[in-house]
Order: sequence, then C-alpha cells, then structure tokens
Amino acid sequence: MLTWNNVINYARNGNPTPDRRIEKTADEWRSLLTEEQYRVTRQQGTERAFSSTLCELFEPGRYACVCCDNLLFDATDKFDSGTGWPSFTQPATPQAIAYHEDRSHGMSRVETKCNVCDAHLGHVFPDGPAPSGLRYCINAEALKKVTETTRDTAANEQGAAINDTEKTTGKRTTENTTTHDETATFGGGCFWCTEALFRRIRGVKQVTSGYSGGESENPGYADVCSGQTGHAEVIQVLYDPAVISYEDLLRIHLTTHDPTTLNRQGADSGTQYRSIILTQTPEQQQSAEKIVKEIQASFTDPIVTEIAPLTAFYEAEAVHQKYYDSNPDNRYCQVVIDPKLNRFRSLYADRVQQENDAE
Ligand SMILES: [Zn+2]
Repeated sequence: MLTWNNVINYARNGNPTPDRRIEKTADEWRSLLTEEQYRVTRQQGTERAFSSTLCELFEPGRYACVCCDNLLFDATDKFDSGTGWPSFTQPATPQAIAYHEDRSHGMSRVETKCNVCDAHLGHVFPDGPAPSGLRYCINAEALKKVTETTRDTAANEQGAAINDTEKTTGKRTTENTTTHDETATFGGGCFWCTEALFRRIRGVKQVTSGYSGGESENPGYADVCSGQTGHAEVIQVLYDPAVISYEDLLRIHLTTHDPTTLNRQGADSGTQYRSIILTQTPEQQQSAEKIVKEIQASFTDPIVTEIAPLTAFYEAEAVHQKYYDSNPDNRYCQVVIDPKLNRFRSLYADRVQQENDAE
C-alpha cells in the first residue's frame, strides 16, 4: 500500500518504472479523444466539480486511463470525498501512476499522471481516509470505467482489464502485450542485500522487502531482529515468467547467498537470517525441491535452506525498501552488499537488468 511518504519520495526522487510506455503526437491524441478529454489529460485541465456522474458510481469494477487503457484504480478503493471529483485511496498498482511536484496557481501540490502515457489525471493529497491516508482527486474525463473481470492476482487483473477495455470501446488496439506476472518469495539473510540483488535481474518488475515464515502477526523490524517472532527477512519478487523462470530465480537465489549455513549469513546471525524458500503452489514446491538437489552438487556442505508454504507476507517498513539504492554510502552496503552484487554480475552477466532496475 502506498502512503504519503511513498508519494513524496516518487515526486522528488523519480517515479516507478511503468509496465510499458505510449507516446503520441498532439494531433494523434486529438484524433482519439473528445475536446474535453484532450483539454484535461493533455493540457493539464480541470473539469468543473460535480460535472460527472462518476462521483456517485461505486459499483465494482476498475478505472483505466482514457488515453491509453492503463489500469489506474479499482472501485474498491473509491470513496465519497464530497469534493465533486472521483476520489480514490490507492492506485491499482504501485507503478500505475507517476507523481510530480506542481507549484502552479500559487499552491504546492502533487500532480498525478498516467505513468504509461503521461495523461494528466489530477492531484493526490495526504488527507484521505485510513489506512493509506491518501486522497487521489481525479478528473472523471481522464477515466474510463472497465467491466469487472474474474478475480485473479493483482498483476493478472491488469492484463485482463486492458483486454476488456478493448472489447467495450472497440476503438483501437493498445501496444501492450498481456503478460501474467508471478510472485516468488525468498529469504537469504539480510533483505537489504537480497532486495538489491533481485532488483537487478532482468524480468524482475518489483521487489518488496518483508517478513515471513513465522507466527506473529504484523511484526516490525525490531520484533524480527529480536529473533523471537520466527519470521525471516524475506523479499517478495514480482517477475515476468516469459523473461525469467521460477527455476532460474531459484538458481540465482541459491548461488548468491550461502544456503549451507544454518541461521547465519556472514556476520548476520539468528533465525531471522535463515535461508528459506516460501512456496505458493505445489509446482513451486516441486521446483524448489528439484533445484535445491541440483545446486547441492556444487556444495560440499549440505544445503539447509527451508522450503515451506507461504502463509503470510508482511511488508517491511518504508525505510527498508530499496535500502541499498537509497543508502549507497552506508558502510554495510559498501562492505557487504557491493561485493555480493559484483559477484552476481560476474556469475549472471546475461541476467543483469540493463536499463531500469525493478521497483
Ligand atoms: Zn495513459
């Protein structure tokens, strides 16, 4: 879930990498949009408050960018703000929307744009309802309602929703290919390290640091560091299986930390640093057992990596997300993480993400 801190961080330090990009000339956009849609989305316009029936619409479904069909919001995150503009507490995905500081009209605000085509959507404010505390104040002219599709994973829904949009509008085809991203969950010591490494693998779209494998609910960093929660520091990896397979992710995981030391990685010691693979399907379980056997051949000591079904994943505090990339001068990053990344780059040169690291 995004919070105001995430929004400010994106606006100041750069936005998440979008799933795809669409760029068109002004004339091309004009030919696709109504005059009012064009004024709002391409010329940073604002529609009159209460000018759309979308404000009162709360039926299930999703909202896509009127310009490019990028899935922006889910109706479950819509609320009645009383402002006269459709309002939401969260975007459909963390990478759906881009944030920019906007100092126009004598105000300091954060503008929201479609992260795929740069359409102006509206603004986001830190006065929304809990738990996110965010209020996305969006022009109805920038949105199109998308029919409800069957429940699936969040990433899969995006692809399905785009297809539905094409069916309902019948206007044009989009340039995107529908992919079905999958999720893998690994622990291999300190998550600052594993997150930094996995963000650099081609085909990996997003890496989230968190806690899993233990009993307590909603643990915090201090709880987990105490070693009393049973949780391990883990990462949740969103990846495109058309680019990299789960088994190749397992191979990288098992060869870039030491899977033979029980509850220890280098100087980091405790059950929170144990080597673990958390599986979400019987197929992942079978793959994990198979690849551990395969990798065992290259170790003299037995691999002690725990393989367990994933029951819950708790996202770590914001300060632990992208820790390495936010703290390159930190001594731990230089002494411990840099050598690991160098080793990864030499072992897996063909797997290194070249352009943009994952979110
Ligand atoms: Zn768009």
